Amino acid sequence: MRANCWMGRNTVEVREVPDPQIMNDRDAVVRITSTSICGSDLHLYDGYIPTMKKGDVLGHEFMGEVVEVGREVRNLRIGDRVVVPFPIACGHCVACERGFFSVCENSNPNAGLAEMVMGHSPAGIYGYSHMLGGFAGGQAEYARVPFADIGPIKIEDDLRDEQVLFLSDVFPTGYMGAEMCDIQRGDIIAVWGAGPVGQFAMASARMLGAERVIAIDRYPQRLRIAQENTGAEVINYEQVDVLEVLRDMTAGRGPDACIDAVGSESHHPSSAINAYDRGKQAVRLETDRPHALREAVLSCRNAGIVSVIGAYGGFIDKFPMGSLMNRSLTLRSGQCHVQRYLRPLLDRIRRGEIDPSFVITHRMRLDEAPKAYEIFKNKQQDCNKVVLSV
Ligand SMILES: [Zn+2]
Ligand SMILES: [Zn+2]
Repeated sequence: MRANCWMGRNTVEVREVPDPQIMNDRDAVVRITSTSICGSDLHLYDGYIPTMKKGDVLGHEFMGEVVEVGREVRNLRIGDRVVVPFPIACGHCVACERGFFSVCENSNPNAGLAEMVMGHSPAGIYGYSHMLGGFAGGQAEYARVPFADIGPIKIEDDLRDEQVLFLSDVFPTGYMGAEMCDIQRGDIIAVWGAGPVGQFAMASARMLGAERVIAIDRYPQRLRIAQENTGAEVINYEQVDVLEVLRDMTAGRGPDACIDAVGSESHHPSSAINAYDRGKQAVRLETDRPHALREAVLSCRNAGIVSVIGAYGGFIDKFPMGSLMNRSLTLRSGQCHVQRYLRPLLDRIRRGEIDPSFVITHRMRLDEAPKAYEIFKNKQQDCNKVVLSV
C-alpha cells in the first residue's frame, strides 16, 4: 500500500510499504478514506520528537471502512464506517476503567523508552515515534487498529467524512481543554494558539457556557476563523503586550481560565527571548519552548485554571512556578482521552450544534502529502487544516 513516511527532518515521502495485518484477535484493519495533518505532526516533521525512524508511517487522525476484523472484535463488521481515536487504549486496565484512555497501561509496547523521559509511560499513539509505541499511522491507504473493540466509533448516518474526521483528535482535544476550565456562567476564557485545536477549544468553551472567549495568535487568517466561527475576541501578540491587553479586557483581573493550545514550538515576539529558547532547544538544554505557557500562567486571574492541551515532549525552562503557587492557580493537562468524548461529541455534530469542517482550508490527496506538509508548516496560502483524501 501507499503511505506517507517520515524520512528525516523536514522530509516526508509517499512510498510503498507492506500492507497491515491482523496481529491480535482484538485488531481490525481499516481502509482509510480521509486523514488529516495535525499541528503535532509538525513537531515530528521539525525533528523535535525523539525516537523517530526513517520510514515510519505518519498520521494519527483518520477514518475509513473496516475491511478485516479479529475474532474478538464483535462490535464491528466488515463494511462499517469508523472514526479512530488517536490514543490506543485497551479499555480494561486501571487507567482505561477510570476513563483515562490516553494513559492506558497496556497499549505502549515500548513503555520503557517513555519511562526514561517521563517517569511512567502514556498510551501508544498512531504514527508518533517509537517512544509511543512505534505504531504505523493513518496517513496511508490502510491501518491496523489495535483494541478495535474499544476505540473506533461507528458512523451510521450520512454525515460527511469532513464533519466527523476530527473526532479522531482535534475536536475532542479542544473540548477537553475547555472542559478542564470548569467553566462557570460569565467566565472569560483566553486561548493561546488559534489553530484547529485552539479553535475547537474556543467553540467548546462557548458550548460549555463561557461568556467571552479571547484568541491569541499572530496569524490574521487564524484569528479571523476563530472570530467568525466561535465569536472570539482576538489579540495579535505581535502587535500588543498580551498581559496588558488581557488585564484591560478583564477589569484588571485576568481571564478566569487560560488554555495553552500551542505546545512545544511556541514563538515569542521578542527576537532576543525567542533566540534564547531556540538556542537552548537546539543544544538540548530544553526540549520545548514554553513562551505561550509562561504567558498563560502569568495572565490567568488569581485562583484561576491553566489548561494545557498543546503538545509537549520533554522539559522546559523558566516555568513561573512562583506565580502558579502564590496565586493559587490550578494547572491541568493531558493528551485527550478521546474515547470518552466520541459519543457525546458525535451527538453534538448530529444535532447541528457544531460543524467541525469549519477548520478546513486545504483538501488534497494522500499523494500530495509532502507538499501539504510544506504548506502547513510555513502557513502558506493561509493554511489552517489539511484533509487528505485517500
Ligand atoms: Zn492530532
Ligand atoms: Zn488500558
